[in-house]
Amino acid sequence: MKLQKKIVTNKNLRKFNSLQIAIKAKYYIECKTNSDLEIAFHFIRKNKIKFFILGEGTNVVFTKPYEGLIIKNLFKKEKKIFKNKVKVSSGYNWDKFVTFCIKNSLYGLENLSGIPGTVGAGPIQNIGAYGEEISDYIEHVEVFNFKTGNIEMLNNINCNFEYRDSFFKENKHLFITNIFFKLKDKFVANNSYQDLQAYRFKKASEQREMVLKIRNQKLENHLAKPNVGSFFKNPLIKKKDLKILLSQEANLKFYKHNTLIKVSAAWLIERCNLKGFQLNKARVSKKHSLVLINEDKTPYSILKLKNKIKAKVLNKFNIRLEEEPTIIQ
Ligand SMILES: Cc1cc2nc3c(=O)[nH]c(=O)nc-3n(C[C@H](O)[C@H](O)[C@H](O)COP(=O)(O)OP(=O)(O)OC[C@H]3O[C@@H](n4cnc5c(N)ncnc54)[C@H](O)[C@@H]3O)c2cc1C
Repeated sequence: MKLQKKIVTNKNLRKFNSLQIAIKAKYYIECKTNSDLEIAFHFIRKNKIKFFILGEGTNVVFTKPYEGLIIKNLFKKEKKIFKNKVKVSSGYNWDKFVTFCIKNSLYGLENLSGIPGTVGAGPIQNIGAYGEEISDYIEHVEVFNFKTGNIEMLNNINCNFEYRDSFFKENKHLFITNIFFKLKDKFVANNSYQDLQAYRFKKASEQREMVLKIRNQKLENHLAKPNVGSFFKNPLIKKKDLKILLSQEANLKFYKHNTLIKVSAAWLIERCNLKGFQLNKARVSKKHSLVLINEDKTPYSILKLKNKIKAKVLNKFNIRLEEEPTIIQ
């Protein structure tokens, strides 16, 4: 197989995933521009290999050596403001983008401060925190389509945003290149979330600082303790199933979510006595039971641990937990 200069082989991905799993990719390319994506596109077509789009790797789990092409997103060229709208390249760091918006008096993203990763990965699982979701501020998403090689534009409705879900999860051939945000030009504090209710924020920067402080207290730093944030989604159940669960567990932690009920996955895990539980070289955080910490170079400990948690929760509550990060096969 003739290799393009930009494509490297046998790349160790340890530094490119926040679980620090030392898996090798058969082929690897860093893409900064549309022409780099075209190189990747032709390489995949010609050699009929699979591919995977990688941002900062803070929401992925590699399970075995990757036999295809890893396309690392380094699109960082653009950050343009037009009134209350911003066009930003997808490889830009998310938290730096939040700071940029606040500095430029554009508001709405404050509660999403401190979420690791790239801007371009935000829409994939519709990142959210403290009562806000990225989908509330996205107007358009520009993509490079790896089936056709064309650039396309999707509007907010086309993205099918849901709780930790979107159209992109089922359409992994779409590489997000740019996002167009529509933000607020006046700061209105959103402190509706329980942890923020005690505060009266006058400035967006104050709200951001408080969010960062709370995150620091509640979550594990992935650079010190390799993790992917919440490993499981909060399960959504029907109202009739809630009644059955409440008869079993009167203290169940849950919230209304449109016509469904969102059950706290952390609470379910804690009720299975798994907070702090260790299995080989992986463990459930003592700070937050949705966070699984990996101390292994291989994926085996973390995969075993997550399967154990799923089995225990299923057995005790008849609820099937769903993984939040992308599990790469
Ligand atoms: C400590 C910690 C705390 C976290 N807290 C939160 C939180 O509060 N809320 C929350 O929602 N998430 C949270 N996360 C999860 C994570 O930060 C987000 O999912 C983030 O958006 C991932 O960005 P990334 O660039 O690292 O994506 P990656 O991990 O590289 O990729 C994630 C998925 O997105 C796809 N993808 C990435 N870039 C693109 C692109 N340009 N085009 C198409 N597909 C793409 C990948 O193929 C993959 O399926 C947390 C993670 C950690 C480690």
